[in-house]
Amino acid sequence: MGKVEMTAPLVIDLLFGDRPRVIAAFAVDGPGGVTLLETGPSSTLPALLDGLRTGGIDLERVTTILVTHIHLDHSGAAGRLLRHVPNATVRVHPIGAPHLVDPARLLASATRIYGDRMDALWGEVVPIPAERVVPLVDGERLRFGEGEVTAIFTPGHASHHVAYWDESGRTLYTGDAGGVRVPGTGYVCPPTPPPDLDPAAWASSIGRMRGLDPARLYLTHFGEVTDVEGHFDRLATGLDEILDLGSAAFEAGPDGGELVTAIRAMVRAGLANDGQTADVGDALATLEAASPSGMAAMGLERWARKRAGG
Ligand SMILES: [Zn+2]
Repeated sequence: MGKVEMTAPLVIDLLFGDRPRVIAAFAVDGPGGVTLLETGPSSTLPALLDGLRTGGIDLERVTTILVTHIHLDHSGAAGRLLRHVPNATVRVHPIGAPHLVDPARLLASATRIYGDRMDALWGEVVPIPAERVVPLVDGERLRFGEGEVTAIFTPGHASHHVAYWDESGRTLYTGDAGGVRVPGTGYVCPPTPPPDLDPAAWASSIGRMRGLDPARLYLTHFGEVTDVEGHFDRLATGLDEILDLGSAAFEAGPDGGELVTAIRAMVRAGLANDGQTADVGDALATLEAASPSGMAAMGLERWARKRAGG
């Protein structure tokens, strides 16, 4: 990577499910070592290692692995990756840390959702030695490339979600708190999976991220966004819209299939009407890989039930 005034990341496409632009990992190099932001799942670890090698990253120089949250598409590979990066520690929200050290509950909960597709989708998840996982503090500043990033706790998509703010480059790494968007399209999809979706917290997190006034975002799903205000506007609108679908489905009574269909129709319409998407079918398939409608429906159902006190 060349020297530039902002800390521009190396963006690694993990080619999840052999599809481009679904899951990204980011690496930045600096005098103090290399920081990796997100690891992706174990199933794409070869692509991650390839991407680092191709990007000229010496694995011995990786000192820090920042993860936005512990969903398997973001940090599932962390345990196996640590065997390749002997000098790195993993930084994560304090609520997430115990689940990286002992992933049993995380895996049980994911197995309830994915069943026998677990291994094909996510690969092997191995525990991380406790001494290599260091919990973050909200607002903590960490060495990053030529400068620093700040950990910004951003609950909503998950209670333990963290975004990372590179103030000198005015660049925000949003994880899933900034939504899911396919490059070359305008529609911003709010991923609403179980188990701890909290829309009110998410709305405040969107406010907090906007308040930083970033010039660019990097989404884990997927890549750089420069129309930041419009992006956040559409994320907030999309979140309201999908919550309305979830509420309506809950009030209509138990029929999960209907909600999945409604979500898919909403996403399709969002893409068709964004004035940017050239190939709606392809973008829909990419969004479905990053944020499956079935999982979004499960998260909304759980949220609606919890809200009704059930
Ligand atoms: Zn995700």
